[in-house]
Formats: sequence, C-alpha cells, structure tokens
Amino acid sequence: MKSYSEWQALSETLTFRSQAYINGGFQPAESGETFACVNPTNEKLLAEVASCDEADVNLAVQNARETFNSGVWSEMAPKQRKKILLKLASLIEQHQDEFALLDTLDMGKSISEMLAIDVPDSIDCFQWTAECIDKIYGEIAPTGNDTLALISHEPVGVVAAITPWNYPLMMATWKLAPALAAGNSVILKPSEKSPLSALRLAELATEAGIPDGVFNVLPGFGHTAGKALALHNDVNVLAFTGSTRVAGMLMEYAGQSNMKRVWLEAGGKSPNLIFDDCADVKQAAAAAAGAIFTNQGEVCIACSRVYVQKSIKEEFVAALVEAGARFQPGDPLDPNTNMGPLVDAAQLETVSRYIRSAQEEGGEVLLGGLPDYVEGQGFYARPTVIDKAHNGMTFVKEEIFGPVLAICEFDTEEEAIALANDSQYGLGAAIWTANLSRAHRVSRKLQSGMVWVNTWGEGDSTVPFGGVKASGNGRDKSLHALEKYTELKNVLIRL
Ligand code: NAD
Repeated sequence: MKSYSEWQALSETLTFRSQAYINGGFQPAESGETFACVNPTNEKLLAEVASCDEADVNLAVQNARETFNSGVWSEMAPKQRKKILLKLASLIEQHQDEFALLDTLDMGKSISEMLAIDVPDSIDCFQWTAECIDKIYGEIAPTGNDTLALISHEPVGVVAAITPWNYPLMMATWKLAPALAAGNSVILKPSEKSPLSALRLAELATEAGIPDGVFNVLPGFGHTAGKALALHNDVNVLAFTGSTRVAGMLMEYAGQSNMKRVWLEAGGKSPNLIFDDCADVKQAAAAAAGAIFTNQGEVCIACSRVYVQKSIKEEFVAALVEAGARFQPGDPLDPNTNMGPLVDAAQLETVSRYIRSAQEEGGEVLLGGLPDYVEGQGFYARPTVIDKAHNGMTFVKEEIFGPVLAICEFDTEEEAIALANDSQYGLGAAIWTANLSRAHRVSRKLQSGMVWVNTWGEGDSTVPFGGVKASGNGRDKSLHALEKYTELKNVLIRL
C-alpha cells in the first residue's frame, strides 16, 4: 500500500477525461456547456466536465441503436464478448490506483476503501458476469409432440444507466457488466457529482475491444441528460440507482414515453436488530458502527436505525460509542483515514438539518453532533450517535445518507420486527442473535431485499443486491441481474 505522500504525489500527476464519450471517442457537449467537478476534501476544482443535454442524448442513442442493429456486439458469440469483458476487467486491475484516485478525489471516499472494496468488487463483477455469459442456455418448452417451442434470451437493445455518486465506479459496473455481457448497447449517465471514473472506464472499454457505439458515457445533470434519456422513445431499458424521489420520476417518464422497462435501486433506511442473545455485544456494536459510518454513511444499505433489546442496551450503547469514536474524519488520500468528507455542501447541510431536527424532537446526542464547517477545508461531518430515538421522529423515518445513527429500543421479538418493518423502505436489514431459530424466523418476517445475520453488507458477485417497497425493484449482481437486460423470446414451430 502506498503512503499518504505517495498518494498525494500521484494525485498531482493524474489527468482527467472531461468530455462525453460517444461512438468510441471523446467530444464536447453539443452546447459547449460544462459543469465544475470539485474535490470535496479541499473544495478545489478538479475539472470542467461536458454538460450533456437532449442534443447529446439524441446523438448517443442514435449511435447506440445503429451499433446494436449492426450486430457487431449484439450478435457476437457470447464466448467472444466474454473475452473482451475479461480484458476490460484486467485493464481495470492494471489501472487500479488510477481508479481509486479518481473516485477518492471526486467524491471523498477513503483511498483504502476504494482499494479494499470498490475497485476489486468492480473487477470481480466484470469477471464473474463475463464468465457466466457463455453458460446460459435457452429452453425447450414441454409443448405437445406436434410443436416445438424454443425459448431464448435476447438482448433488449439500448440500455440507459443512470447512477449515483456514492460508489461511482462500482454502481456503474453493476449495471454495465450484465448489460454489456448480454449484448446490449449502453449509455451511462454518471452522477454530475462524480463523473470522472466512468469516462476513464469508457476509454478502457474501447482499448479492451468493445466496438465503438456500444458503451457511451454522457456526463450531465439529472434534469437535462438524465431526463432526456428517460423520456427517449428509442431507449429500451432504464437501469437506475439513486434516490427514491428520482426513481418515482423515472417511472413517470417511462409512462409518458415508450413504456421502457425501468429498473430501480433506490433509497434505504435499513434497521439493525440487536437481540440480547447475540453472541458478542462488543462485536455487534463494532459492526453497527461500521454499518453507519463506512463511506461517511453515504451508503444505500447503511443501517441508520439501531433497535436494541432493553436488557443489553446500556452495554451495547457504551461499546457502540467507543467503536464510533474510532471513525475519524480526515484526508481520504491518507491510507489511515477511515472517513472522508461528504460529497458536497448540500449533503453537509442535509446532515446538519437532520441532526438539528433530531435534537428538537428529543434525541440525545451521545457522539458527534453538528459539523464544524470551515470554508475551503472540506465538507466534513462527524460520526454521530443519537439516543432516545423512536419511529415517530423525522430523522428515524427519512433517509439522511450521512453518518447519523438513531438508537431505538425494544422489548420483544414481535416488537422488533414491527418497528423494523415500519418504514417506506425495504433495502437491507441486519440481525444479531446466536439463536438459529430466531435468525430464520425474523429474516422471514423482515420486509427487506437483503438480510444479514451476525454481519452487515457482505455479498460478492454471486448474490443479488436490491430492495423491496420504496427501495426499488429488480436486482443488481448475480445471474438475476441478467434478467434486467434480456428479453425472453418464444419461437413456436408446428411440426
Ligand atoms: P439522485 O437520485 O439524486 O441521483 C441519481 C442519479 O439520477 C444521478 O445521476 C442524477 O443526475 C440522476 N437524476 C437526478 N434527477 C433526475 C431526473 N429528473 N431524471 C433523470 N435522472 C435524474 O441520487 P444520489 O444523490 O446521486 O444518490 C443517493 C441515493 O442513491 C440515495 O437515496 C441512496 O440510497 C441511493 N442508492 C441506492 C442504491 C441501491 O442499490 N439501492 C445504491 C447506491 C445509492
């Protein structure tokens, strides 16, 4: 692992791709407009990036459609697509330091986390999905003897992927790998807060052998480039990760245009249930701190609601505060930093607003509290633990997307389940118990796409990721991700 000063020196040498990537090459936005990409650690400008809008969307979709229809990728043998995607995975690996730096500078995530999670997960996702694609067979339906019905998976056509800023490379990869492996042409619109790694990825995709026009990147704002993609009549699938508010808008845009399929990975307010029969209270507390303070709390599956059984509350909370205090905000380029700045001033204001509202509604701050913002010195929040919380409080109901943890209590298992499910969201949930029956019983009852027992957040490319209720539909990762990007075709032949 490089030292702090080595990462600083390397960051000085980095060059940023800042134009749209269409049809295998970089070009400015048609309008010539740009937006500022700012480092949240020091608030300095990193790059002026092309601000794409409807004109660029029209051009990219037209190219993507022509490329799809040409068959150059969509009709390539899966085995061949696999080779190219494996090459892309190895190019990411060769450039792992560069990718780590790009996202760290762009959105404030710690460089250690980039190297431990985002980059290896992205490489694995491309590799795993590529390896799958020439092992998926069609079916012959059990029709009568006088007919033959062949059921096959076909690529859907043009896929638009709209992604958030909290795991820029990884969230893009979770969409790109299955969409490309299945033979589609893809247009990625990364978040305007973190477009840099996606642009570099596009360049490497061409180097790996992905034909021009198959993978395009349009940096730009949601209400311009994003909306134009979502309303476009020649986009077949919209694959989104982001807030529940925008997810709902995308469903409307799809209805107003061509009824494109919309896959949504949206917000969360994940509960963490700590039962008094958990094997190790200290371990559960340390994991609970990690489950909210990792990536500054800017994690969709962050367990921002802890429900702890009354009999162990005192012991658990003391251990939690101790573990939480080990998260020290600092320069994310320092490999010892475990918490960087928030992505921007707006996010810092959101976090402050929720801390104030928690205090006004009776919450007691046990750790952290309001940020001490100094202009020009980064958007740093503090790891914050708030006790005396309950489901009626605003900061317990709404997604904050920052390092703020609510401590609530319960008496019985039934109560814990009811409190956990009392949310519009259903993305992830964690349970801490050494009782096997309880673990299964509670897992079944939780309204959640994912449940972790005696752990949090684990899951490689083999397991599906996604939620229920207002947390979305469809799944990223695993073979199930391919369902989003393929159509089933039934060809019936009368014999
Ligand atoms: P966001 O919804 O503000 O933005 C996400 C993307 O949508 C961005 O690229 C943005 O430009 C675009 N967008 C915004 N308005 C749009 C519009 N009108 N039309 C089309 N596109 C539009 O979310 P964010 O702040 O970038 O990310 C944080 C959110 O993402 C949180 O709610 C978090 O829970 C969620 N998230 C969910 C998952 C998951 O897997 N479920 C993973 C990561 C993040």
